[in-house]
Amino acid sequence: IVANNKILCYNSEAVYVQFRRKKMKLSLVIPCYNEQDNVELFYNAATEAFKDKGFEYELIFVNDGSRDQTMDKLRHIYDIADENVKVVGFSRNFGKESAIYAGLKESRGEMVCLIDADMQQRPELVLDMMKILDNDPSYDAVACYQKNRKESKVLSAFKNAFYKTINKVSEIEFKSGASDFRLLRRCVVDAVLSMSEYHRFSKGIFSWVGFNTFYMPYVVEDRASGTSKWNFGKLFKYAMDGIIAFTTMPLKIATYIGLISSAASIIYMIVVIIQKLAFDINIPGYATIVVLILLLGGLQLFCIGMVGEYLARTYIESKHRPIYIAREVLDYEDK
Ligand code: UDP
Ligand code: MG
Repeated sequence: IVANNKILCYNSEAVYVQFRRKKMKLSLVIPCYNEQDNVELFYNAATEAFKDKGFEYELIFVNDGSRDQTMDKLRHIYDIADENVKVVGFSRNFGKESAIYAGLKESRGEMVCLIDADMQQRPELVLDMMKILDNDPSYDAVACYQKNRKESKVLSAFKNAFYKTINKVSEIEFKSGASDFRLLRRCVVDAVLSMSEYHRFSKGIFSWVGFNTFYMPYVVEDRASGTSKWNFGKLFKYAMDGIIAFTTMPLKIATYIGLISSAASIIYMIVVIIQKLAFDINIPGYATIVVLILLLGGLQLFCIGMVGEYLARTYIESKHRPIYIAREVLDYEDK
């Protein structure tokens, strides 16, 4: 039963979903971690971009356990804003992936856009992305990608190597340079939410759920203030997480190395027997033995470590821990 645009009672999720679909065209999900100087800039830019455009929208800020004044700033924005700002505050830093999940869960829009709080991704671009989905019903998502990366050559080379590797070893396709700056239709959002794994690698999840994605080139702006939370070490760990989450290929490495070294040693054994019987040659092999023992020992440890990585992840997934814990939720419907 709906009165004065408020739901008084609903008896099924379907009715509720239909109601909220009619109402809201766009949700923006904005993960924020230590972005005290950026959230207000972002709010102003988004309001400027979307006001009077003839559709309803909401801004969902997810404060990912910031250690600065971000939460106070968000509380202020919530107070002064129209009834379209929601704030989810985590109990600690759970990571951007968890923040995205929380934002998608809270979103009600027919289309949902994931966008950073640091103004590197201009809110006006969302209008262009919406046009693509509005004009072509065969597309369900728009993903922005950087044509020219604004970063060091070494980092770019590593990123390209990562995309080459993961595309080779996993069945799903990863587009090089595609960012988390995406606009998704509700069907894609529901599909992403249905993947409730704890180790979330968004790039993989977006590819895995499928759907027709339009790739739109864009230029990344400079950060308005603050610094990026990514350094080389974190990126490397993230890349490893992605590979482990979306392919079990490394588990087969041990099998292949084992097969190859067994075949080689059988061949070598035959050679040694023939040398001994036919030509009576005795080869002193001290160095060879030491090198081979170290090499094979190293490979064995590497393979056990790899198996351990998968085992550890299985262990953590089996605990079914929540993806995030919210300390507080400021909902515009409570205003
Ligand atoms: N972010 C987050 N949790 C984290 C790290 C980052 O919510 O643990 C947010 C951050 O506030 C920003 C977005 O994710 O809105 C992208 O982060 P960042 O700008 O550091 O990454 P980059 O743009 O350098 O890839
Ligand atoms: Mg950034």
